[in-house]
Amino acid sequence: MQPIQGIHHITAFAKNPQTNVDFYHKVLGQRLVKTTVNFDDPSTYHLYYGDNTGSPGTIMTFFPWPNAARGVRGNGETAAVAYTIRPNALPFWRARLASFAVSVGELQTRFGQSVLPFHDPDGMPLELITSDEPATIDFWDAGDVPREQAILGFHSATLWVESADATARVLQDSMDYKKVGQEGHRHRYAGASNDIGLYVDLLERPGESRGRMGAGSIHHIAFRTVDDSEQQAYLTRLREAGLSVTPVQDRQYFHSIYFREPNGVLFEVATDAPGFAYDEPVDELGTHLKLPDWYEKHRASIKNALPKIKHPDLDITLPR
Ligand code: ZN
Repeated sequence: MQPIQGIHHITAFAKNPQTNVDFYHKVLGQRLVKTTVNFDDPSTYHLYYGDNTGSPGTIMTFFPWPNAARGVRGNGETAAVAYTIRPNALPFWRARLASFAVSVGELQTRFGQSVLPFHDPDGMPLELITSDEPATIDFWDAGDVPREQAILGFHSATLWVESADATARVLQDSMDYKKVGQEGHRHRYAGASNDIGLYVDLLERPGESRGRMGAGSIHHIAFRTVDDSEQQAYLTRLREAGLSVTPVQDRQYFHSIYFREPNGVLFEVATDAPGFAYDEPVDELGTHLKLPDWYEKHRASIKNALPKIKHPDLDITLPR
């Protein structure tokens, strides 16, 4: 059983699917790698963005709910997502975000690295962190962002917690994360890989209120296991630690188990396999509405109920 390698994907709520695609695919240069539906509610899209093939550690996913109210952030949730860029890419991103009228916050320093904070169109907090650490992605070369300036997968995610102790115990004792730093109320833990998606920051906010999920809220954070047998070992280990873990769910592109850690943040442990090329060739990723077998017989009505999305760089309209 290997230690958890790092972040697999992060899933959030959005409001307008077109706005979401335009922002992540076009502005941030994160390829739309899968257009499918929420397997628990097929009237809602599930949109996946990542590098060219949707490598684990690059995947940001959304459930766009056109009628959603905006979420209110609070304790017990993943509150910010940080992507890695190289230090010399910072001027490019400042200019690019400004050109799309995305306002950015003050440049901060965190554990010696520069952090540029901004928000997605639904108010979800994003950060670009400059780092020279290894970050291997499968670069998507058909987007607008040049390779030298590309977003290099996840750097870290920040969890808002009442107190770090109980969450830290789960990360360290059940997932083999190591504590690697502390700055004020921010405690940093690292996964075992030497590459993307390594860090989880616990930001302690004692006495602050809990959030309310809505557009711009992060629903859960998923961590990487290699395959089904390793996931099974984690399922047993997490249950032995007293956590209430769901049975394995088939998410088509990976298999998942879920549990709430003691501060209430929803965690998932997902397999790297089989990946996004499972049901679509790599050069066509994201361009067809993909449904799991059990929804195929309802394809016509599912397709009909989904809002239309104009693909940001291809002359196609989704769903198709
Ligand atoms: Zn997930």
